Amino acid sequence: MKDQLQVLEKEALQKIEDADSLKELQDVRVAYLGKKGPITEVLKGMGKLSKEERPVIGELANTVRGNVAEALNRKKADIEAVELEKQLAEETIDVTLPGRPVPTGGPHLLTSIVEEIEDLFIGMGFEVREGPEVETDYYNFEALNLPKGHPARDMQDSFYITEDILLRTHTSPVQARTMNMIKGERPVKMICPGKVYRRDTDDATHSHQFTQIEGLYVDKHVQMSDLKGVLDRFAKQMFGEDREIRLRPSFFPFTEPSVEMDISCKVCHGKGCSVCKKTGWIEILGAGMVHPRVLEMAGYDPDIYSGFAFGMGPERIAMLKYGVDDIRHFYTNDIRFLKQYHQA
Ligand SMILES: [Zn+2]
Repeated sequence: MKDQLQVLEKEALQKIEDADSLKELQDVRVAYLGKKGPITEVLKGMGKLSKEERPVIGELANTVRGNVAEALNRKKADIEAVELEKQLAEETIDVTLPGRPVPTGGPHLLTSIVEEIEDLFIGMGFEVREGPEVETDYYNFEALNLPKGHPARDMQDSFYITEDILLRTHTSPVQARTMNMIKGERPVKMICPGKVYRRDTDDATHSHQFTQIEGLYVDKHVQMSDLKGVLDRFAKQMFGEDREIRLRPSFFPFTEPSVEMDISCKVCHGKGCSVCKKTGWIEILGAGMVHPRVLEMAGYDPDIYSGFAFGMGPERIAMLKYGVDDIRHFYTNDIRFLKQYHQA
């Protein structure tokens, strides 16, 4: 019996030594120390032993159990330490690795351009005003010196909802509404950005929906030179300090005199190249001194007040500034196009 116990102990210790997982170790524990294990079985046979032998075997059995249990615990601690180390090595965070960027959106190129232009004019004392996109014939045309039947209305064929209500063809009605609200009681200095609609066939330079920014400054003693100064600052800030502007005579029903503004070509600086069609200049916007009749309709005395107005297309500004070759890129919302203009 003594030999049996010693063999069992040797066996168990060897198996513990060989175990390399907590699962194997647990199996050894159950096999040797469990209620149905061989050590228990041996002890069951103690009844057959003599009185002298019994305590000796009993003590030996306890020693064996103790040794096996101790070996098990030691090995368990070893395995746990190894596994912890392994886990630590595997899960180490290298803080010097570059982070994974979180994908974020950004403003649409048109939004950025409109905001840039807004900032620029706010810096010159203009306020930003908005108005409805569904507009009355009165504000869209009549209040701007374009009575029914005026030939200039044909240039702005629109989407009519009823005979007197339409999608605005320009942002000028916001100027008319603002002046109407102020009733000629104080000066006005504003820009109005927004979407406008015209019945145009879409192509690389035309869209049935586009964006406009118009500006209006009415006060005492406003002169053409003020208009030129404001436009010159705008052109230089948007396109570069080396750009020149020129004003050419033009016609708009709500301004007199009216002008088109060009900026010098950035490629040839006015000498003439293919970008500017050999002219040295690129057309940017229309402007002029507010027509006395428009001032009158808005409640200003044209003998005391004068003003200037201008209107531009942010799409055109963005196309010139960033070399966009098709206006439709702004509306088809191809993420590959838009991503190019996200500022970091
Ligand atoms: Zn040129």
